[in-house]
Amino acid sequence: MQRVGIGHDIHRLGAGGPLVLGGLTIEHDRHAIGHSHADVLLHAITDALLGAAALGDIGELFPDDDPRNRGRASSEMLQAALAATSAAGYQIINLDCIVFAQRPKLSPYKAALCDRIAGILGVDRSAVSVKAKTGESVGPIGREEAISAQCVVLLHAS
Ligand code: MG
Repeated sequence: MQRVGIGHDIHRLGAGGPLVLGGLTIEHDRHAIGHSHADVLLHAITDALLGAAALGDIGELFPDDDPRNRGRASSEMLQAALAATSAAGYQIINLDCIVFAQRPKLSPYKAALCDRIAGILGVDRSAVSVKAKTGESVGPIGREEAISAQCVVLLHAS
């Protein structure tokens, strides 16, 4: 049996870097505002995994009104979601992600992002895809007020 999940996240951007994305710290003049490093990419992947296994969402696992979650590493939350999906009997086939950011240009970071995500999830690098889109200079993404990410993940039952 196979199951698909979808994840989405958005965070506001504020003045001053660096930008934490996909478990990487990227030199930039803006940063994402929010709990647990505000890593939109890892948060979207976490929700996609939980969704595929029908195990709830990131907000249920890590409520943002719980002070223990304030500085929690996004990679730790993703690994917790992975552990939950593994315990439910699922393994990852592949995931495909899109990051929406007007800046910085993410093409130089795509390979490192895939490597980092594959490392966190313990899957082959070929199972991970990261794409990047700008906001075409319009809307909250284009005005650099926000960064967002989407992810779809496919799981198979063992
Ligand atoms: Mg988030």
